[in-house]
Amino acid sequence: MTKDLSMFEVKKFVFSPVEENTYVVYNETLECCIIDPGCYFSNERNELKDFIDGLSLRPKYLLNTHCHLDHVFGEKFIHDTYHLIPYMHQNEKEMLELAPLAGARWNLPFDGYQGQVNYLTEGDIVRLGNDELKVIYAPGHSPGHVCFYCEQQAFVLGGDVLFQQSIGRTDLPGGDHDTLIRNIKEKLFVLPNEVVVYPGHGPETTIGFEKRNNPFLQAGA
Ligand SMILES: [Zn+2]
Ligand SMILES: [Zn+2]
Repeated sequence: MTKDLSMFEVKKFVFSPVEENTYVVYNETLECCIIDPGCYFSNERNELKDFIDGLSLRPKYLLNTHCHLDHVFGEKFIHDTYHLIPYMHQNEKEMLELAPLAGARWNLPFDGYQGQVNYLTEGDIVRLGNDELKVIYAPGHSPGHVCFYCEQQAFVLGGDVLFQQSIGRTDLPGGDHDTLIRNIKEKLFVLPNEVVVYPGHGPETTIGFEKRNNPFLQAGA
């Protein structure tokens, strides 16, 4: 495939003892989005910053699919380093505020982000140059979970909604199994089969593969 003039690159990092996937999405504008900064240890924060600085990227958006602790360990670091106000669905604000408490409980203490936030809602478009990510609202794993869909390049940054042959847990506050299943069917399984899912944990998959193989989403499951 010849490289389009304008095209997102997706860089994945696996951070923290929870093994959370943090993504940096960028293009030829050299602007970038940082999605779910889960960098916990200082070497992880340096790795993320070295990548961004090494390519001379200019962070434009700090985006959260949701605000469980493992997805916001590095929220304050990114804010303090690049002066970005995070974007999330409004139903995640409380999760963000509770995350440091959850960290203490899980023996993963961290300094939480406390400042103002920007809200995302279904259908919002996040733009870097000519490339776009569209916000899909898909709660169930958490109360205000969103996914970021790039129709042009057929990928979705899916957070903890849909994993390779698994789905997000629903036993945490604000989780609801039936809502999660319904949203996977109505919001993600309506996307083309070739769409690549970059999940919040584990390897990439595709919508088509999960339709056929995900044990939580087969008929009668
Ligand atoms: Zn989560
Ligand atoms: Zn997670």
